Amino acid sequence: LEPAYSFMIRMRMPGGALTSKQWLKCDEISNTYGNETIKLSTRQAVQFHGIIKFDLDKSIKMMDEVALDSIAGCGDVNRNVMVTPDPALQKANEEIYGYAKTISEHLLPQSRAYHEIWLDEGKGEGKKLVAGGEEELEPLYGKHYLPRKFKIGIATPPYNDIDVYINDIGLIAIVEDDKLLGFNVAVGGGLGKTYGRDDTLPRLASEVGFCTPEQVLKVCAETMMIQRDYGERKDRKLSRFKYTVDKYGLDWFKTELEERCGFELAPLRKAVFKTTADQYGWHKDHTGKWNLLLHVEHGRVRDTAELQQKSAFLKIAQADVCGFRLSGNQNMLFHGVKAADKKKIEKILEEHGQFADGRELSGMRRNSLACVSMNTCPLGMAEAERYLPTLITKLEPSLEKHGLLQDEIKIRMTGCPNGCGRSVMGEIGLIGKSMGRYNMYLGGDAEGQRLNTAYKENVDEATILAELDVMFGDYAKDRKKGEQFGDFVIRKGIVAPTENRIEYFSS
Ligand code: SF4
Repeated sequence: LEPAYSFMIRMRMPGGALTSKQWLKCDEISNTYGNETIKLSTRQAVQFHGIIKFDLDKSIKMMDEVALDSIAGCGDVNRNVMVTPDPALQKANEEIYGYAKTISEHLLPQSRAYHEIWLDEGKGEGKKLVAGGEEELEPLYGKHYLPRKFKIGIATPPYNDIDVYINDIGLIAIVEDDKLLGFNVAVGGGLGKTYGRDDTLPRLASEVGFCTPEQVLKVCAETMMIQRDYGERKDRKLSRFKYTVDKYGLDWFKTELEERCGFELAPLRKAVFKTTADQYGWHKDHTGKWNLLLHVEHGRVRDTAELQQKSAFLKIAQADVCGFRLSGNQNMLFHGVKAADKKKIEKILEEHGQFADGRELSGMRRNSLACVSMNTCPLGMAEAERYLPTLITKLEPSLEKHGLLQDEIKIRMTGCPNGCGRSVMGEIGLIGKSMGRYNMYLGGDAEGQRLNTAYKENVDEATILAELDVMFGDYAKDRKKGEQFGDFVIRKGIVAPTENRIEYFSS
């Protein structure tokens, strides 16, 4: 007898793009083998939770029926490549979107192991399967692959809706007169920390230079291979690229990269970010099609008594009037909608309890992010996704009392310091310590360019509510025009600002 272990499968889908037909299949997989919900991750990927071990292969075969896969959804390889999803935000976005796909495919492992194990490739043909030969197979990864996972994201200023600086490689698209000129390249970002290890810290990526669109594949591949060759392999806690960058230095990295590439990076171009928030509601793109960015609470698509979002998305997919794109903030973009079909989508949503413009939500709820944590992630020390909505409900009366209900205050929660919910970038960040207890951080910015700072350790709900009520009151009274909450707490000296590396509670 084998235990019926339950698994999560994360698909790889650069830029979070799916067709209606593919969403229908996701719905079917979640109902047939999963826990009847679909999770939109903070890296624009779909996750299925609750898949029993014996159903893994069947689930993966179902993905394959609609050309979806989970190759490099996990593991010590390049992961899902992120990009701003909304083509309506600027004309060049669709071209930039294509780079997420190109980079992802260029950095894919070449091994057919996935196909042989899960899709029965080569079965019964007397062919040598999987074992051996990885070195020849994998020109980028070699025999041992990377020391740890590797992440790439592309942001299109002024929108930093993917938190570009948290990536091992952050690419900042430079566009002039609707033409993509290239990318500022930032390296060495990563948010994870390990409690009890003071040598582990979140770090924002450092900008090192500019490359053209023709150079970007080479830059990404060679950077990844520098990490393959120099990354720490003995101590897994120190094996992310950020530690390699800090160990050898940025000058060393740049010289090494330019030598391997055979060209030099150009000086950085000007790029200004204004927000990490998703732009909710309908936007018309340059082709005349419409795109709707819709709130999904912490990316969990499901049906409840109040909101039947899973049924609504199913009906929208059945109507086949749009593509589906996930945002890096765990929301959904219905993409490429004809004007005549807008009402159809709105009607379906309203019939299932949701308004397209998010009018029913507070500013804090629209700007909240939470990782999965309990009861699905074994690393969670406290609740995140299942608790943050309740905490926000308890904070909303305080926000309302102080006239801040529609203010876009960024709150983020994770069940452990690994950083999947990017809580160290929140204006308010809560990181799980033990059941019902969180380390509290303050002072991230709205643009995604400043980590927050440790404020109080091991606080419970009553403390969080009381502390924030006082701060919200002061913020409402004393803020300068346009001043964000994260900037306010720094100006007032409640916490000190951080630039890149930060001091954290170590345990
Ligand atoms: Fe799990 Fe920690 Fe990631 Fe949350 S941040 S999903 S608890 S590993």
